[in-house]
Amino acid sequence: MNPVGPRSCYDEGKRCAETLFFDYHRQHQLDIKVVRIFNTYGPRMHPNDGRVVSNMIMQALQGNDLTIFGDGSQTRSFCYVDDLIEGMMLAFNSGPNFTGPVNLGNPTEFTILELAERVLTATHSKSKLTFKPLPVDDPRQRKPDISLASSTLGWTPRVALQDGLKETVAYFRQLTN
Ligand code: UDP
Repeated sequence: MNPVGPRSCYDEGKRCAETLFFDYHRQHQLDIKVVRIFNTYGPRMHPNDGRVVSNMIMQALQGNDLTIFGDGSQTRSFCYVDDLIEGMMLAFNSGPNFTGPVNLGNPTEFTILELAERVLTATHSKSKLTFKPLPVDDPRQRKPDISLASSTLGWTPRVALQDGLKETVAYFRQLTN
């Protein structure tokens, strides 16, 4: 963990928020639910927010090269937004003794190169790949352990990447038309 890197405010901000919520819970019996959201995608993502799924779909639809940071062998696990929202609602409606933290995400891992191939297939695009330097502190792997969510909330994500990508591509297509 690097507390002073260029991306650290994001990680440290989330850690600090969890600490404050648990202090309020202990001191004031505030009813809290803490969920830890892993990489999520779907319709209504912002086309320019810089995340990999939206970047690649926009690039593919516009006939630009898909940017791969590093060699593309790092992995991520992508959760479709409908699955995430279902998990969040189950957490919010859970009994008062359940506070979390609970991981919500899809544990099926893909390399960034595999994601690029799937985006090209889903968009029927002939775009090429272009390799750029890896950002500072870019994790090699992100994969949620969702055993708590499945045992206590009965939740597992259901939407496969190719199905979620189809919906997401349809959204970005009408946005760019
Ligand atoms: N990434 C990429 N091309 C892009 C945007 C991101 O190769 O146009 C990579 C990024 O370096 C990271 C992964 O894709 O390894 C996921 O990036 P994102 O910012 O979506 O999520 P996070 O890194 O926060 O998990």
